[in-house]
Amino acid sequence: MLDPYFTKPELPGNFERAVNRREIVDVGRRGKYLMLELDDGNTVVIHLRMTGSLVLLAPDGSENPGDARIYEADASEKHLKARFTLDDGGELRFSDPRRFGRGFVAGAGDLEEYFSSRLGVEPLSEDFTVEAMAAMTAGRTGPLKSFLLDQKGVVGVGNIYADEALFRARLHPLSPGGSMKHDHHLALRDGVVDALERGLDLGGASIDDYRDAKGEKGGMQNEFLVHRREGEECVACGGEIKRIVVGGRSTYFCPNCQKRLRRRSKRK
Ligand SMILES: [Zn+2]
Repeated sequence: MLDPYFTKPELPGNFERAVNRREIVDVGRRGKYLMLELDDGNTVVIHLRMTGSLVLLAPDGSENPGDARIYEADASEKHLKARFTLDDGGELRFSDPRRFGRGFVAGAGDLEEYFSSRLGVEPLSEDFTVEAMAAMTAGRTGPLKSFLLDQKGVVGVGNIYADEALFRARLHPLSPGGSMKHDHHLALRDGVVDALERGLDLGGASIDDYRDAKGEKGGMQNEFLVHRREGEECVACGGEIKRIVVGGRSTYFCPNCQKRLRRRSKRK
């Protein structure tokens, strides 16, 4: 452990003891949490936050050209926060310039409890139905953008994919969730799924320092429809993409294409 921040509020020594000489038997994901299941039933849970990255290095450090490229840069060595030595001589490294990323070890029972209070429905699962979208947004007066970023609703949607999903659904980021009708629920559900699947196809989006586990850059940033395209032409109508701030996050949208729904008046 190179930076005690990584395991905060737990002490680094406790984390080290929990993973030392354990075998990784499975690798998974819940929302934005990455999970390494160990042979004693415990699970290492890692959240990358904004700038964290996990990279797997081969024993000689040079088998994956992508890895070598990342670690040529001083910045990455400087921001190395944790190092897991594997029994084949390879290494799993966690780097994080902004130090928001965290890791902890949880028992099977604790894990479900941890996630149940934090995570909603998985957008790429069968549970993400139009009915689920309707139920989650019913009565919500807050902006749709904030709803999409709240991990207790749809899990795993970040700032980029929320903008891209809302454009695909032709919904204004400030529209209140509770004002949507059936067609809007359907459009937003499809918009989220399409945006995420496109991102997966393209290997993610590399804006600043994102790399996948082999150190490769994604391609999604070259195909953004609205995100980070302020002042550029809308691909659908030719109008100008605007930027606003919603809940402290930069938000990009097309005012022509994305309809702002009115708040429904309450019936007496
Ligand atoms: Zn437009």
